[in-house]
Amino acid sequence: MPNFTLWYKMFTEVTRGADVYVGVEEWDTFIKTYQLPETRRRDAIFGSLMSLATSYKYQKLGNSIRDYFLKTNTPMPIVIAAKYVQLCGRLEGPEREEKVLQAYAELKKLSRLGIFDATTAQTVIDALYRTSQWKECIRLREIIQVLDAVGPTVNGKIVAGAFLHDDPDTAGEFLRVIQTAKQALIPVALIAWYDYACRIGQVEVMKMLEHTRNAEWFIPLEVANKLKARMESQADEDGYRWRGRFTTISMKGECKACGAYLEPITITKEEFLKLRDNFFRLVVETSDVFLRSNPKEVAEFREFVEINAPFDLVIDGLNAAYFQHEAQRVTSRKLAERLRMVVEYVTTRNVGPKKVLVLGRKHMRSWPIDEMRRISRAAKLFYAENISQDDPFLLYAALFSGPQCDFMSSDLMRDHRFKLESKENQDALQKVFLKWQRTHQLQILKVFPDGTVKLKPPMRFDTVAQWTKDSMHIPYESGVPRGLHEIPTNWLCLTKGSADTTRI
Ligand SMILES: [Zn+2]
Repeated sequence: MPNFTLWYKMFTEVTRGADVYVGVEEWDTFIKTYQLPETRRRDAIFGSLMSLATSYKYQKLGNSIRDYFLKTNTPMPIVIAAKYVQLCGRLEGPEREEKVLQAYAELKKLSRLGIFDATTAQTVIDALYRTSQWKECIRLREIIQVLDAVGPTVNGKIVAGAFLHDDPDTAGEFLRVIQTAKQALIPVALIAWYDYACRIGQVEVMKMLEHTRNAEWFIPLEVANKLKARMESQADEDGYRWRGRFTTISMKGECKACGAYLEPITITKEEFLKLRDNFFRLVVETSDVFLRSNPKEVAEFREFVEINAPFDLVIDGLNAAYFQHEAQRVTSRKLAERLRMVVEYVTTRNVGPKKVLVLGRKHMRSWPIDEMRRISRAAKLFYAENISQDDPFLLYAALFSGPQCDFMSSDLMRDHRFKLESKENQDALQKVFLKWQRTHQLQILKVFPDGTVKLKPPMRFDTVAQWTKDSMHIPYESGVPRGLHEIPTNWLCLTKGSADTTRI
């Protein structure tokens, strides 16, 4: 087991909080103090110190480790040499290029055929993509590909390398790879892409924004800042200056900075029917989604839905009952009470749904009868077997009910989205599912003691970047983690200045 605490202690002892160059003799003393004669142990320590030097960007310390191996005529382990390449890649300034390439040349000498393991290849790519030899990253990627799926970081760095070196064809090739693999595009790639687009001109900037919108990639804050500065600093081709503001969009789709309403999101009837058909055909009938449910139960449920549908809202009962409760400690009375509060709240509001289905489990039949009666007065109740998965039941009832039906669950439904494996148009269907989910999923945010429930309503506005000739609204990634089905809550609003005051 690696002893991280010990390594960190050694690191602070050597550096005392600053980047220092440690001479060979000092290293020897250090090795003696820590009794590290065994080569493998010594290499492990140097390896972890080099990792820490890379994290802290301690170039002198890294140099001194490399020099220790050189001066004592000991071959540097490949993993340490790769870390050193990575460290050199973190230098800012004109010497970076030379240092990285020199360190990489040394690394190559350590491997007879210039072939590395996947981790080493990844580590090196991290430094190499910013140098003139960035195309070497494509060769290294092939090494990784032999053994493993290539992740978004490696693919994204190749894209970044290509844009940094004005090679849009190669960048485009790897953007397609990333898009096909449904990976996120990493910030460094988006930044390099934006900078490239700016070098070409405004048309290219708009092309980039359109491409990222269609691929559902979101620009990082750094790009949002640059875009704002660019639009504000120069007049557009018609002589207008633009004003940029960071903002949020209300649930109704209103921009809080300029007051404009964003283009409403719509699922066409055709899209909805196609989604429903595919869900029924592929998820319900042919896949293993209902595997843990018995066929009789599935048939009973389908019949129940056919008789009672259409619903306006389908609630995941257990999910609502356990909301704000600790699963281990809570009594069935508390659970029933919580579910009843949610059901009564949504059914008694003026604008609330008229017909509600609560999906429960058989064991809920033993919950306090008074509470359960109140629930069944307000909504239809279906009890699934305790072992069944409830999401497929929930999605089935909601989709069966038609496009007006919402559902309430905190589940992200990822599995089901990815099961929409129609041979043709798989991507398009998954996008429709995601759009349907965004516009139909309610989540409970808080239940108050007085029975009021704060809900996160479905989004009713289009969640993608959009622009007209007078304004642009672009969501950006602020760094706050978000669910896959959620879009960033931060937007950049850009509006054209009025002709009277800002015409130049
Ligand atoms: Zn706005």
